[in-house]
Parts: sequence; C-alpha cells; structure tokens
Amino acid sequence: MARRKKSEEVQSSGHPCNWGGCSNPGNFRAPRSRQNLQDYQWFCEAHIAEFNKKWNYFEGMDSDAIYAFQHDATTGHRPTWRMDQMHRHSAAKLEEAFGKMFGDRQSYAAYAKPIPARDKDALAVLDLNHPSDKGAIKAQYRELVKKYHPDVNKGNPNAEEVFKRITRAYQHLMAHYVESST
Ligand SMILES: [Zn+2]
Repeated sequence: MARRKKSEEVQSSGHPCNWGGCSNPGNFRAPRSRQNLQDYQWFCEAHIAEFNKKWNYFEGMDSDAIYAFQHDATTGHRPTWRMDQMHRHSAAKLEEAFGKMFGDRQSYAAYAKPIPARDKDALAVLDLNHPSDKGAIKAQYRELVKKYHPDVNKGNPNAEEVFKRITRAYQHLMAHYVESST
C-alpha cells in the first residue's frame, strides 16, 4: 500500500499509531498529557493532526479523559465543535508549547492574530473567530451552556470540564476582550 510521503523529515519511529482503532505506523510524536510533557505517544500523520486539533480543547483534562474521548470519537460520538476552527486558534499556543515538535510545515505562525493569546484561546474555546462582538459571544456562550450544563449531562465528567472551560473563557472575554484590537 502506497504511503504518501509528504516530507523527508518523516522517519519511522518503530511505534504503531496510538489512536484507537488505527493500525498505521506512528511516526509523529506527541505528549501524553499536559501534566507530563516528556512522556510521549506516537501517531500516524492523520492522527497527529487530530491530536493537535484537540490539544486545546482538552486543556485541563487528564489523559484518561482524553483517551475516553478518542475512543468515543472512533465510535462516532463526536462533539459538535468545529474542530477545524479550534485548531486554528490553538495553533499559536501549540507552537509556543512545543516549538517545532510537530513540524513547521503546518506553518502555525501564519494563523497568528495580533490579539493577546488568552483572548485568542478564549475565543477558540467558544468556537468563535476574532473579531466577535460581545453580543455574539454571549449568544454563543448561551448555546454552549445549554449543551454542556452539568444539569443536563449528569455523570459526564467531560461535559462538566467543558462547561467550566467555556464559562472561564466567557468570563475572560467579558472582562478583557476588546473586539476592535487590530
Ligand atoms: Zn493513526
């Protein structure tokens, strides 16, 4: 089977892809958790991209929660977040945390916008782009609260984490975000 070789930087790690249900070679390295950045896992090219997208989303969760999510994702229980946008907003943060670990062909810096990283992250959490006015931020927060409120997700710790996270992001934006920043 022909493997698309996108870059001469890709070398065989000897590890299988760690993504649930994937049997491709895992030649791309990623940390297992935010708590232990030196402990690595390996993914194929497609799944390192998925991992990168979700990294920001999973901030504050432990690795068990991430694995539970990955398992859910492979069985079709995907969240409705637009992960492509999450990825764009978390890119600068990833680069900051890992330098070139993920390879510079992703060109993370190209997405950087001149607003504070915390604002950017908070917008990403709410699945919004800069600029967004406060009315739109409030409306989006209300939608997400409906979906992730602990009262309607009893026994689901992931939803609780997401709820806390969107609430922190919302509070941050209400207090600090200036829409007209350029
Ligand atoms: Zn894979």
